[in-house]
Formats: sequence, C-alpha cells, structure tokens
Amino acid sequence: MNTLFRALPSMDACLSALSGHDLPHAHLRALVQAFLEQRRADIRAGYVADSDALTLDALLPALTSFVRDKARPRLRRVLNATGVVIHTNLGRSALAEEAVRAAALAAGGYCNLEYDLSTGERGCRHSLVEGLVRELTGAEAAVVVNNNAAAVLLMLDTLCKGGEVVVSRGQLVEIGGSFRIPDVMARSGAILREVGATNRTHLFDYARAINENTRALLRVHTSNYRIAGFHADVPLEDMAALAREHGLPLLEDLGSGSFVDFTPWGLPGEPTARGVLRAGADMVTFSGDKVLGGPQAGIIAGRSDLISLIRANQLIRALRCDKMTLAALEATLRLYLDPDKALARIPTLRRITMSPAELSRRAKRLARALRRALPPGSARVNVAAGVSRVGGGSFPERDLPTTLVCVEPCACGLEQLRTRLLNCDPPLVGRTGRAGRGERDAFLLDPRTLEEHEFTEAARVMAQALADSA
Ligand SMILES: *Cc1c(COP(=O)(O)O)cnc(C)c1O
Repeated sequence: MNTLFRALPSMDACLSALSGHDLPHAHLRALVQAFLEQRRADIRAGYVADSDALTLDALLPALTSFVRDKARPRLRRVLNATGVVIHTNLGRSALAEEAVRAAALAAGGYCNLEYDLSTGERGCRHSLVEGLVRELTGAEAAVVVNNNAAAVLLMLDTLCKGGEVVVSRGQLVEIGGSFRIPDVMARSGAILREVGATNRTHLFDYARAINENTRALLRVHTSNYRIAGFHADVPLEDMAALAREHGLPLLEDLGSGSFVDFTPWGLPGEPTARGVLRAGADMVTFSGDKVLGGPQAGIIAGRSDLISLIRANQLIRALRCDKMTLAALEATLRLYLDPDKALARIPTLRRITMSPAELSRRAKRLARALRRALPPGSARVNVAAGVSRVGGGSFPERDLPTTLVCVEPCACGLEQLRTRLLNCDPPLVGRTGRAGRGERDAFLLDPRTLEEHEFTEAARVMAQALADSA
C-alpha cells in the first residue's frame, strides 16, 4: 500500500500539468488536494492494485475533468424536454424577455427600490408593483413577499396569531418539498380549527367552529390534487356571507393564482384572484412563478385595512423581495395589461396554450434536427402522440395533448442514455417510457418546453450522449 501511495504524483507535478487553467492558484491547489485525497481513499479501500494506474499520465484525464467539473457553476442552465411547463425542480417559470431585461437592469446598477423620485425622500419597495396588482386583481391594496409560503405565513401571523383560524380538513394540503399548510399555520402562532371531513365540509361545520377566539376563515385552493366522487365544498359566496355575519375576514390561499382563464384551451376553470376577491374573499395569496409565469414571489392582495396591518408586521422585513424580483415581477405584470401580449410573451402561458398543430410541427422539426445530428445507426428517432403536464401543482391530472419525439438508442440502455444526457453541457432532462399504448420504450422529448432555437443544441447534446455510450 505504501508503494501505491508513493506512486501518486506530487502536488507540483499536478499543478504544472494543469497550467492551462486560469483558476486562482489557491483554489486550484485545493481542487488537486481533494482529487489526490480521493485517490488515497481508493487505495485505502483496496480499489487500486497497480501503481501504473496512479501515474500522472494515467490520472490526468480524470484530474482534468474533476477540475473542470468543480470549476463550473453549480447552478446551470438545463434543456427541459420533459414537457412539464412549471417544473419546480427545474426552476418553475422561465421569464419573459421583458422580465429578464428588467431584472438584469436592476441587478447591474442602482435603482429607486426604496427611493421616491418625486420627493427625493425614502420610498417604499412594497409600493412598486401595488398599482399593477390592484389593476389586475381589482384588490384595494397589495403587497409582495418572497414566495407564496411566506405570504401565507405573513397573512396568518398578522391576522390570526394567538387566535383560531377555521379551515376545512379537505384543504389541509401538502404542496411538495414537505410544505404543509397546517405546519406553516402552526408556525404563525395561529391555532388551526379543522372542520368537516376529508371529502365533505358543510357551511354548518364552519358556523359551529366560530367562537370568541376565531380570527378568520381560511380557504386553501387544493391545487395539486383532485377529489373525485362523493365530496362537497362550501361555495365561496356562502363562506363570505358567514364571515361577514361574524365580522371575520375570509382569507384564501390560491396557490397558483392565474389571471388568465384557460378554459378555451380545454383546461378546467381555475379560480382567478379577481374572481375570488369579487366573490367576497377579503384577502388572497398566490405565487408569482407558477401559472403567472413571473419570478418567485408571493402576492398578497385584498382589503386595504388588512394589507396595512400586514405592512406593519415586523416579519415582513424577513420576507421581503429583492430588487431583481420586483423588477421582473413588474415587467411580467405589465405584460398582463394586454392579455394577448401576455399569452404571446410569457413563456409559461405560451407553453400551456400551445396548439396541438404547433406541437406536431415542432416535434417534426426536432426529430429532423436529431436525425441530422446523431451518429449513423446510433438511435431510431420517430414522433408519436403523447401528453404533457402543466406542473407546479397546477391543473392536476390534466393531460395536455402533445407530440413527442421518441429516441430509441441502439447501443445503450435508456437509463444509461438518461445519465449521459445529465452529464452533457447543457444537461438535457427528459422522460423515459412509452409515448402511448403500442409504442416502444424510448427516451421522450416534448417540444412544448424547448424553444425552437434550442432544438439544434438538444440534438448536439443527444449526439454527444449517444457517441459517448456507443
Ligand atoms: C404552491 C402553493 C403554495 C406555496 O407557494 P410557493 O410560491 O411555492 O411558496 C402554497 N399554497 C398552495 C395552495 C400552493 O399551491
């Protein structure tokens, strides 16, 4: 074993072999150190039997790729070929160009984030997008925080702390990433009064739970699952009437909170912030980066007296958005002032509403790009009807018809291809499985979530992965 340890190249030998890298010297040293430490661990574990495998020449390819891998950013752009439009693990919504530009402008210089340009005095960041939110939702007032989880926390902490908030058992949902509504409510210091049964809650359930400690009634939009069969929820209007009768605010966590009605595209009618407020909710919260298609944010809109209380809560300081978020959100909301423009410019909306004909055309183009780029005989490429999902906990169990490009590798397995694609630059994420009944197992690319200018890049990455695995 000592012979093996001694066979390892010296630090200096490694460093001079890597002289082409322009990494800071100390950083490069630390990387080489880590690499050599891994080799020593291999030796100790008995993985290395031959000192020839430990010469600088033998180790250099592995050392070079180790350094390259560690030196590149950890947060990287990926090609999303999954067809899941709001893919939470891939960063949810891609921003409209207008929003990207606005965020870059705010990021790269000074801006009037908290500076009132009409007086030269201190301004308020919470006022920057309030006007737009009011116009788009019909709310009296609004405030924006880091994400919708923060919005729910802040709303309950402000309005219900030390008291009870009444919520239906059918709405105590887990959103994913183990965000559970009841847990957040507990953090806020509000006591949860669960009423009804999982599948049915009636107005009298809410009415009976109201007592002198009740601070609010809460509705949570169960955006990420569907109850089918024997089930009943209380209409919003009835709950609003009950809340009014008792002088309590009615709060709604909308989750996705769209401004657009997607029923013309065959999706179910989801409640909009405007609709919920008009039907009698006193306050709604929703995400900026789900169906809205903007940056990560939590929007709170509703009665101005309640929003004032929220703004006065010290917790808001810990939950506030930064300038890049506010810039991107403002640019996104501005697009919504013209609904046609919003549909054309906001990638999330464009992808959700993309027509089957357009998807079929794109799939054929992508398939052509792949056939041109792939090494001959490396894979079979064809197109087949399939489905995409909106994702982000929105429109659960709703399939969007699409056309998939199916790649069947000839010289490697699907799992191997999948891993190879993740190691490419940029990594390509897709699905493996069958496009539909009667189809064969394949690696599936959905053109819904790829931009056309990414097709040749996707083809190059696929070619690389198939060549690597041949
Ligand atoms: C997604 C969601 C949340 C959390 O929103 P984030 O913006 O991810 O923090 C809260 N409530 C509901 C109903 C949701 O769907």
